[in-house]
Amino acid sequence: MKVTGEKFDYSTQRLADMPEYILLETTNRCNLRCPTCSRDTLKRIGTMSFERFRTIMDQLPTVKHVKLHGLGETFLCPDLIPML
Ligand code: SF4
Repeated sequence: MKVTGEKFDYSTQRLADMPEYILLETTNRCNLRCPTCSRDTLKRIGTMSFERFRTIMDQLPTVKHVKLHGLGETFLCPDLIPML
């Protein structure tokens, strides 16, 4: 899909079937307490396992770029190095 500034017509145009770029939140744990953070509203705090990461990636063969970040401190994910 080209970003042209024109209105996107959902009846005739489609987004790409498979993404080239994804964002994965590997953990929403954090060792900081920023005053503006919304983490306290989350129902679950946890970390993605490497097995789950692998399962997701195996289903997305077209992905070329992965951003391993979301709400949380990515470096608290114990499996970060194998994910890289
Ligand atoms: S998740 Fe981000 S915004 Fe929230 S406390 Fe941690 S560093 Fe701050």
